[in-house]
Amino acid sequence: MSRLLAESQTLRIPFRDPFRIARDMSGDVAVTVIVEVSTADDRAAGRSGLGEGFPDTYYGENPDTMAAVLPLLLEAVEPFEERLGGAMAETRDALAGASWAMDEAIRHHGAAKCALDIALHDLAARRLGVPLHALLDLPAAIPPTDFTIGIDTPEVVGQRAARATRFPALKIKVGGAADLQTLEAVRAVYHGPIRVDANTGWVPEQAVRLVPELERLGVVLIEQPFPAHRLDQLRWLQERSSLPIVADESCVVYDDLEGLVGVVQGVNVKLAKCGGVGPARRMLARAGELGFRRFLGCMEETSVGIAASAAVASLADWVDLDGCLLLADDPFEGLALSDDCRWQLTDAPGLGVSRRR
Ligand SMILES: [Mg+2]
Repeated sequence: MSRLLAESQTLRIPFRDPFRIARDMSGDVAVTVIVEVSTADDRAAGRSGLGEGFPDTYYGENPDTMAAVLPLLLEAVEPFEERLGGAMAETRDALAGASWAMDEAIRHHGAAKCALDIALHDLAARRLGVPLHALLDLPAAIPPTDFTIGIDTPEVVGQRAARATRFPALKIKVGGAADLQTLEAVRAVYHGPIRVDANTGWVPEQAVRLVPELERLGVVLIEQPFPAHRLDQLRWLQERSSLPIVADESCVVYDDLEGLVGVVQGVNVKLAKCGGVGPARRMLARAGELGFRRFLGCMEETSVGIAASAAVASLADWVDLDGCLLLADDPFEGLALSDDCRWQLTDAPGLGVSRRR
């Protein structure tokens, strides 16, 4: 009989605005999975750990695959549960051990591992009565987040950009029918740096022709212009571009980093791809050692996933943690954005996030 109980819940939350990207034009509802873990002792103390994994079918996951592997992952982490909330060093060791054990149990399934990894971090930090960033020994000061606008007509994207001028950078999804006109429309109403993300939707000749126009328009980076496996094309464009090319779909887990050296200048690390807080932290640290510019991104998570990501955001050069801002309704509360668009890491225990009542 397992001590650690995990309950999972699939949430279907409408987007505030339709959210379309080059490789997924569905974009009306975010589907994400919340996992809550506790032992009988935790429940007696009124405590549990919240986690979230956003399954992306592109990476081979959906709520059903998450539900299928969760029992296996729970069994893998069970031996580490007792050491969560002991001494700080012991707790950190146990969290790292749980993460390795999940990877040993089954490869891939980053979102499922992410949900459980975040939940264990939240539970451990709550047992210790410390905020997650303190458990990780990371500072509360983090870079501001940008704001992402999905593919639509240039007019609509321009209107959305005009509503987002408080953000210090915008991330504009490209790979649609009218990328240049879209970026012109954004530039007409927004004066800060623009990051573009093609989500694998460009071809090399088109991209290389666009680069001078992107420079003229104040674009500061190009994310994943080509298909994930086309490292040859990414390298080709990086050699011809003054702007950093950032690998996202090509950079899923820790082991992908080394192969991207000399290919691109930046990598986008996401908890839901690599398996949670611990793996993201290790990946960001390694990416820095390898000389990459580090982008910390997200899927369309609620503030559970965003709070967990924010706890490691001090390790990133660029932050794109706006998932919960894209949702019409975030069922969790406790995470606040400052006037200058930084997530506030407070002294509240764990993620500092709870279900809205
Ligand atoms: Mg991306």
